[in-house]
Amino acid sequence: MSQTVPKPIPVPDDMSRPFFDGARDKRLMLQCCTGCGKWSFPVRERCPHCFAATLEWRQASGKGTLYTFTIMHQVMNPGFASSVPYNVAQVDLEEGVRMVSNVIGCRNDALKIGMALEAVFEDAGDSITLPKFRPAG
Ligand SMILES: [Zn+2]
Repeated sequence: MSQTVPKPIPVPDDMSRPFFDGARDKRLMLQCCTGCGKWSFPVRERCPHCFAATLEWRQASGKGTLYTFTIMHQVMNPGFASSVPYNVAQVDLEEGVRMVSNVIGCRNDALKIGMALEAVFEDAGDSITLPKFRPAG
């Protein structure tokens, strides 16, 4: 008899809740500084560029390029046993921030550094939706 172990999922807190609420609505939400106009990720209290506490949530384009990736073959967590081999990707978003995610809808051997990607949203349980990326176009 096999037993399926669920993947670990993030637990939003007060700081990150707008990110996860946006993902639930299929919108990629990031913080943008009203002082200097630069975007930031991951979630923080102050702008990493000018240190002002003037970050507000805005919808990002969801467009980016593949900066780098790795292919996971080992099962480091039993929740991922049925997913190996899977990719873990760093995506450079148009807004100038880098996000760790997965590229879906693309074979791992078709991944290319610099390829154009767009955000898609994948349910990861009853209450969490995660942004993933797929080849753009
Ligand atoms: Zn700033």
